[in-house]
Amino acid sequence: MADYSRFMRQANLIGGEWVSADDGATIAVENPATGEVIGHVPKCGAAETYRAIAAAQRAFESYRETTANERSVMLRHLHDALMDHQQSLAELLTTEQGKPLAEAKGEIAIGAAYVLWYAEEIRRTYGEIVPSPVQDRRLLVTKHPTGVVGAITPWNFPSSMLARKLGPTLAAGCTVVVKPATVTPYSALAWGVLAEDAGFPAGAVNILTGSAREIGGEIMSNPLVKKVTFTGSTEVGKTLIRQSADTVKKISMELGGNAPFIVFDDADVDRAVEGAIASKFRNSGQTCVCTNRFYVQEGIYDAFLAKLKAATEALKVGNGLEDGTQQGPLIDTAAISKMEDLMKDAEAKGGRVVTGGKRHALGGQFYAPTIIAEANDIMQLTREEIFGPIAPIFKFNTEEEVIARANDTEFGLAAYAYTQDLGRAFRLNEKLEYGLIGINEGIITTVEAPFGGLKESGLGKEGGHQGIDDYLDTKYTAIGGLNL
Ligand code: NAP
Repeated sequence: MADYSRFMRQANLIGGEWVSADDGATIAVENPATGEVIGHVPKCGAAETYRAIAAAQRAFESYRETTANERSVMLRHLHDALMDHQQSLAELLTTEQGKPLAEAKGEIAIGAAYVLWYAEEIRRTYGEIVPSPVQDRRLLVTKHPTGVVGAITPWNFPSSMLARKLGPTLAAGCTVVVKPATVTPYSALAWGVLAEDAGFPAGAVNILTGSAREIGGEIMSNPLVKKVTFTGSTEVGKTLIRQSADTVKKISMELGGNAPFIVFDDADVDRAVEGAIASKFRNSGQTCVCTNRFYVQEGIYDAFLAKLKAATEALKVGNGLEDGTQQGPLIDTAAISKMEDLMKDAEAKGGRVVTGGKRHALGGQFYAPTIIAEANDIMQLTREEIFGPIAPIFKFNTEEEVIARANDTEFGLAAYAYTQDLGRAFRLNEKLEYGLIGINEGIITTVEAPFGGLKESGLGKEGGHQGIDDYLDTKYTAIGGLNL
């Protein structure tokens, strides 16, 4: 085991000081693989958040004056610090979140890649000089840091979801108040240590753990916070959108999904199974882009199902820190109960358990990788985000039918399809109502491309050159009466 003690802070970061909650209250954090308490973090509320926002505003006054190049250098230091400590940060992540160590290392690496991407992007974030309709006037369009950002993040990617927000925030010249998920606070608090090491000024990054309602309430109501970026459930996202109205904040929302995975008769079945395993069982099925519904065309149904069964049964379930583990525990006991409820409903409505379908023999928060065939549209898991290792398999006949069924949801985050037909690939691009589409690929997230959902899956993009737009205000200035 690496030594992650330097990164595992039991305190919050406000204005460059590591502090406790005002009343000393704390929250216990557990390892989901063992149930052991691994530490305690402050239980902060509105008062501490108010001070953190004030500190971020003070830091913003000078940080906004730094040059893009100066910020780029600090971001590159931050990237290097992440990669230098990849192993220990990954072990800390697995200890609090449960995912296999290899996935945790991948998460640290992709987080570092986002930071580097924005270190590069900010030096090429240009304004414009617009042709003027009047001879003695010149029209300038310029970009400026938006101000203090509020960032609220989930537990399923406790490090990289923050990277996607901190990267553009700090690149743009904004400062931030972060509220991570309560069950996985340490990976977020580690960013405070890393930001200090990289040379960011006190107050540029503030991190608070504690009451979601109180911290969130202050972030949403405080007029100094100009932008809020949230990743989490659609339900909480909608609450935040409503709350943002009073002070007209800019918002970006990365919310829930209900991803279809379509296997056409002409698919390369082995490739489809490989993609299916990656897109379904990664992080024990607890990602927003995880497949929720497998639609398999009649002619390939039996072959796909047989191969998917074999691959699913070969997955090694266990403590993420153990060598070779491919699926860790679920995040909490409520998640286990949700899997049990979804399976009970699906079986009662005609589903056939092909493998799994129950808690794993390891007990605790482990659930067996599961396939349920003969899935149908009246099952609860068709409409809801499963967020766990259950793969429901639906049969379909025609392309037209499956596109309609795939789109029949209020969500619009990720969709996958396997086909060898190039024309069909373009039809899917045009007709699937999803922000992210993988054709013959089960994992498509990359820093170079914009990540974000349509419909009730969200607003705005993270990654790509688009990812920095929300952190910058565009100003138009007309300079007239020029002696030209
Ligand atoms: P969640 O329950 O919505 O929580 C997300 C964050 O919001 C946590 O920090 C949570 O704090 C906080 N929160 C809860 N209630 C709040 C309130 N009233 N005001 C302000 N903040 C509040 O979601 P989750 O269970 O952690 O994450 C899973 C969800 O995230 C899934 O729906 C998944 O699809 C979605 N997700 C989406 C993306 C994407 O990019 N689209 C990526 C990853 C995850 P506490 O922890 O203290 O409750």
